[in-house]
Amino acid sequence: MKIICIGRNYALHAAELGNAVPAEPLFFLKPDSAIHLHKHPFYLPDWSDDIHYEVEVVVRINRLGKAIEPRFAHKYYDEVGLGIDFTARDVQAECKAKGHPWERAKAFDHSAVVSQQFFPLADFTQGIQGLAFTLERNGEVVQTGNTRDMLFPVDELIAYVSRYMTLKVGDLLFTGTPAGVGRVEPGDVLEGFLEGVSCFRVPVK
Ligand code: ZN
Repeated sequence: MKIICIGRNYALHAAELGNAVPAEPLFFLKPDSAIHLHKHPFYLPDWSDDIHYEVEVVVRINRLGKAIEPRFAHKYYDEVGLGIDFTARDVQAECKAKGHPWERAKAFDHSAVVSQQFFPLADFTQGIQGLAFTLERNGEVVQTGNTRDMLFPVDELIAYVSRYMTLKVGDLLFTGTPAGVGRVEPGDVLEGFLEGVSCFRVPVK
């Protein structure tokens, strides 16, 4: 399986990092080795001094598809969860400055926290584009988002990405982070909520 992550999909987050709002979706990949195992804490890597949390709604692909039309994209997922796209912001800045790929900053081991539970979309009457989510750091809300604020809705993301690569059953789509990203410190505890339900709780070491 692969993890597809969308960058700059919320205007206020693009602005907080000094980035322009993109004219078309921006995506990158994490390998399956990036998945964080729930029984472990998240260990800060020794090669970065600036690891950031980014809470994101995660969609799980449930059908094989390529070149999917936007109007059919909703048939390719029926469950939703929440995750963290951990990012080495210092390394990412270095990669951006050099025009290099972002893998060192984004695709490292355990950089993808994924909720243990995925929820049937049918449980949410508001649909995929009306989901509220938050991230708490040590019990304080640091990020609040709603999928209605996405620049590119999930169906457009699926259509766009599947023009370039086949989507497979079990692939995960991280749909971008809202404003409020920030640095994590040893001893922090990060807890994510989707529509008020706790999806993960990650101690940082
Ligand atoms: Zn992200």
